[in-house]
Amino acid sequence: MKRLIFGGSFNPVHNGHLALLRALTEAVEPDVTTVIPAYLPVHKAVGGDYADPAHRLAMCRLAFAAPRVEISDWEIAQRHACYTVDTLTAIRRAHPEDELYLACGSDMFLTFDEWRRYKDIYQMAVICAVSRGDTLSEMRAFAREQEKYGMRCLLSEAEPVVVSSTQVRQRIRAGEDVRDLVPLAVLAYIEANGLYREEA
Ligand code: ATP
Repeated sequence: MKRLIFGGSFNPVHNGHLALLRALTEAVEPDVTTVIPAYLPVHKAVGGDYADPAHRLAMCRLAFAAPRVEISDWEIAQRHACYTVDTLTAIRRAHPEDELYLACGSDMFLTFDEWRRYKDIYQMAVICAVSRGDTLSEMRAFAREQEKYGMRCLLSEAEPVVVSSTQVRQRIRAGEDVRDLVPLAVLAYIEANGLYREEA
């Protein structure tokens, strides 16, 4: 089985995350997709910059609900920040037969050689990246350089959707509208739970 893995803080989920998953689902045609929200330092300020893991998990469930997409609480359940190599190792142990595809945006892709044990990651998964505004030529050059270390990659040619969770949080804090940046169900969840209104 082809398994596409998409990790992130999802603080909150936005349209760029959805666009990434759409583009890579088309390119990879996975049998199953695993979305894994990261554990983040729990912050005391209610309504501050860091939404509780339970909120981020709930927003992932709302935003990514689709057949053959599962939302994993594995990293959150670890109760500490996880290295991708450790998460992939756990997934491989649970699903030894699967071919793994790791989804990421160009910001993460272009700094992949700074990730812990990145050469091991290259052995475990095909790295699948979508531009966030970085040029494809820059991404291709990086891919060529990393091939020496065993990287196998798939670069999507989808148009960048330039939005970040930081931008969404800043806009909410400023009392501005974010309905063009996040899925409707996520917007409703943020409002119902009063997320991101105050500075952390
Ligand atoms: P923050 O602004 O809080 O740092 P973020 O918008 O970068 O958050 P994350 O949840 O940290 O979002 O990102 C998870 C993954 O999704 C990363 O691989 C990131 O590169 C990718 N990603 C985030 N936004 C986009 C986007 N607009 N287009 C493509 N990929 C994206």
